[in-house]
Amino acid sequence: MGRDLRRSGRRGVRVVNSGERRRTPVRIRYLLLLFASLVLMWVSTPEPGTDKSDLPENRSEITDEMVPVKSSLDPPIVPEIRVGRIKRGDTLYGILSELGIDDVSIMNLATADVEDVNLSRLVAGKTYKVITVDDQVVEYQYEPDDTRIVSILFGDSEPDVRVSSIPYEIETLSLSGTIEGSLFRAVEKIGEKPSLALDLSEIFAWQIDFFRDLRKGDTFTVLLEKVYRDGKLVRYGDILAAKFINSGKKYSAILFSGSDSRSDYFDWEGGSLRKQFLKAPLRFRRISSGYTGRRLHPVTGRIVAHRGIDYAAPARTPVQSIGDGKIVLKKKDSVNGRILKVRHNSVYSSAYAHLRSFASGMKVGTRVRQGQVIGYVGTSGRATGPHLHFAMYRNGRYINPRLVKVPRASILTGKELETFRLIRDDRDALLKEAGTHEMVLREAGR
Ligand SMILES: [Zn+2]
Repeated sequence: MGRDLRRSGRRGVRVVNSGERRRTPVRIRYLLLLFASLVLMWVSTPEPGTDKSDLPENRSEITDEMVPVKSSLDPPIVPEIRVGRIKRGDTLYGILSELGIDDVSIMNLATADVEDVNLSRLVAGKTYKVITVDDQVVEYQYEPDDTRIVSILFGDSEPDVRVSSIPYEIETLSLSGTIEGSLFRAVEKIGEKPSLALDLSEIFAWQIDFFRDLRKGDTFTVLLEKVYRDGKLVRYGDILAAKFINSGKKYSAILFSGSDSRSDYFDWEGGSLRKQFLKAPLRFRRISSGYTGRRLHPVTGRIVAHRGIDYAAPARTPVQSIGDGKIVLKKKDSVNGRILKVRHNSVYSSAYAHLRSFASGMKVGTRVRQGQVIGYVGTSGRATGPHLHFAMYRNGRYINPRLVKVPRASILTGKELETFRLIRDDRDALLKEAGTHEMVLREAGR
């Protein structure tokens, strides 16, 4: 595509260079057209609070703004849009000069700093658009990131630079699934991507051990945002709310930003889902979907006798500390192999054995954070295959990690709790209508 553009770009140069600089009204008419379409868009954008059901139709008005406009005197303007891709080594100067833009204008643009956008900083792989009318370049568009569009408009005088937001459409929909074999398969079965399974596993990482706790018949419901651009799915947005029923126990998660304006998930009562300890010493996200998708790990009667829980996982899988703490033991012996022990507070500690290697910087006395990678799964010591042996201790005595009751970190109160309850009930109502959805137009950079 890039090559096509270059070729046509050169054609543009020839047109401009043959004879006088044709400062024809074409460009001005393009600007007028652009202005007219903006006014049209503004007029057709519904006021907030109008019926949302007619929003999807507005999509076409956004994307088809380049409609030929007939004037009584001039022939209709039909802009031609070509898309190119930035290649390594491309420069703003190179691209614009091939389009026939004069050196002085380019130098002015390259040094201009419009709304914190450095125009001469190009990212390889990103696309740009060149809009021409009658072989004259009227606009160059580039997206420096996922939220903004930079337009350089070439008119009669110096080029005009505008920065605008990328228009995304956000669809909010409620989906539900049942676990038969694995969470991945359940997500796949309802037509969604594996990342949804991973996102769910992160939301409930303090409540559910996704490696061992999932059971056939477990169900989940999510209120999910999907982000579209020009009708095409770009990515998932936020999971606004989720419910997970695991072995008959119901867990709720509602996304809410409190007074510190940081978004986080809260349970039905408004308690933070974050806890002192994560449920599993491995992150679901770090394991290939093929592996976790293989089967559900059965509950074994060996847990207590074994004084720990075994997590079968591919060698080199990162091992995370289940909570903040300090390394109090680091050694290698013939039974545990490479082992790390983390002291979380005066009561609890946890141990991680059979490691292939320790993460760099791990030594006795090192402070670690919850979720920090401290080592990698291996077969050191008495192990038949790669797995992590994980144990927890209360007051120095082994306890079954599955039975540790950890109080929640915090709970919303007062005005925050009131607001939270309104949002919660609203989303809960939407969650219950699985399969329904609504479309909302929203600008990027929420
Ligand atoms: Zn073991």
